[in-house]
Amino acid sequence: MTALYEYMECRDLRHAWARDDDEFIAEKGRVREFSRVLVCMRCGTTRRDDFRVIHQHRTHLIHRVGARYRYAPGYQIKGGVKIEEMRWSLFNKVLTLVKR
Ligand SMILES: [Zn+2]
Repeated sequence: MTALYEYMECRDLRHAWARDDDEFIAEKGRVREFSRVLVCMRCGTTRRDDFRVIHQHRTHLIHRVGARYRYAPGYQIKGGVKIEEMRWSLFNKVLTLVKR
C-alpha cells in the first residue's frame, strides 16, 4: 500500500483533530501566550497552534501566530500531490475494483 492510499481519508477529508494538550505562558498573572496541541484520531499527525494574547484596556484579543505539524511516518509525499489528482487516483482504483 502506498502512502497515498494509506492516509487517503486524511488527505481527502482532512485530519480528524482532537485536543490533546494546552500549554500556557503567563506574566504578572496574565496569560500572554498559549499553545494548543491537536492530534489526528486517524493517522496520529500532531498540530501545535501557537497563540498570542493581547490585553488592551478591557479587551482581550487572541492571535494565532503559527502552526507546526508533525506528520505521521510516510504521510508526506516528496514533491506533494494535488488533492484533485489524489481523488482521481482513488476514483480509478474504485472503478478497477468494480470492473473485476
Ligand atoms: Zn490524519
